[in-house]
This record gives sequence, C-alpha cells and structure tokens, in this order.
Amino acid sequence: MKIRAVEFIKSAVKPAHYPEYDFPEIAFAGRSNVGKSSLINTLINRKDMVKTSSRPGCTQLINFFLVNEALSLVDLPGYGYAKVSKKIRAQWQPMVETYVETRKNLLGLILLMDIRRDPGKEELDMVRWLETNQMPCLLILTKADKLSKTKQLKQLDAAASAFNRDRNGIVLFSAKTRQGRQTIWDEIHNLIDW
Ligand code: GDP
Repeated sequence: MKIRAVEFIKSAVKPAHYPEYDFPEIAFAGRSNVGKSSLINTLINRKDMVKTSSRPGCTQLINFFLVNEALSLVDLPGYGYAKVSKKIRAQWQPMVETYVETRKNLLGLILLMDIRRDPGKEELDMVRWLETNQMPCLLILTKADKLSKTKQLKQLDAAASAFNRDRNGIVLFSAKTRQGRQTIWDEIHNLIDW
C-alpha cells in the first residue's frame, strides 16, 4: 500500500473517547517491548510516528492513527511489564476487552510475540477469547532478525502448534530488515477486503 498520509488522531481509554469515524480499523496488541511501535512505524514508513513509552506499560492508552484518510490503525497498550502496579494491570484487560467488544469498525487484531519466547498464557488466552468473539487475529513473530533462518522456522512451527494453526497463518517479521512487511499489508488488505 502506498502511504500518502498518516495522522495521529487521538488517545482514548473508553468508548466515549474513541474517534467517531467508521473507517475500517485494525488493532495491534502485544507484550511491552515486543516491538509493536517499531512494527507499526515500519508498516507506515515512518521513523517514530508511534512512540515507545519511556516507562513501558505505564501509559495505558489506546492510540488511534489514520492512514491515507481511509484506514484506522490502533496501538493498544502493551501488557505484561513486570514493574507495572497491580492497579494498572487490572485496568488493561477490561480496557482492551471493551474496545474489542464495542468497536463496530474493528475488522481484526494483530497479535505480536517476540520470536525468542514461546507463546505465553496471555497470548493463548487472548487468541482463544478472540476466537470466541469471532474476531479475526493475525499472529506475528517479531524481531526475526535475532535468530538464524533455521531457528526462525523452528519457532514458527512451535507457535503454529501452540495455537493449532497452519504455519502460513503466522508471519515472521523484522523491523530491522523489513522482512514480513508486505505479507502483513497483504493480510490487512484481506481483512478489510479491499
Ligand atoms: P514496543 O514496546 O512493543 O512498542 O517495542 P519497540 O518497538 O519500542 O521495541 C522495543 C525494543 O526492541 C527497541 O529497543 C527496539 O529497537 C527493538 N526492536 C523492535 N523491533 C525490532 C526488530 O525487528 N529487530 C530488532 N533486532 N530489534 C527490534
């Protein structure tokens, strides 16, 4: 997709604050530090449109971006940061669940996992919950450049088996080499049926 314009629209914590537009929307989720900002910036060809919080996990906001005045990309807050207080942790789940359950124009969620970690309970639970809610979910293994090609494929197989998916249903991505960028755009296009 040719990126002509990207705008940061707003941050929100609850439905009343979400933008009122109904452009097709795709949301990104993942553990803090998984490489979510880097992935979104790579997709939209921007260096630091999406900023990493200097204190990861402390800013629990849903950030809305509009691409080419036609496609909404949503950066969900990261989860699982060890130093976050219990209170902030307890806010994360209802905030994300409410977003997924109420956002009418949301067409799919992209869940990021570090290729060097095996999928955790959070990821398995989230994918199961999304399936129950009939919300399409694309799985990405980030920072692929950190592993050799052989090890990348080994982790891909492990993830495919953990999520009971076909290998083709999981994308290997690197913000460093841009490996996987086009595949993610193709998958986004499939989701929004353009
Ligand atoms: P976020 O907290 O999920 O938004 O993660 P960031 O995008 O800020 O990335 C966290 C750290 O991982 C930063 O130091 C990035 O430079 C690094 N990082 C992100 N993506 C990649 C990648 O594809 N390859 C490598 N080698 N490092 C990455």
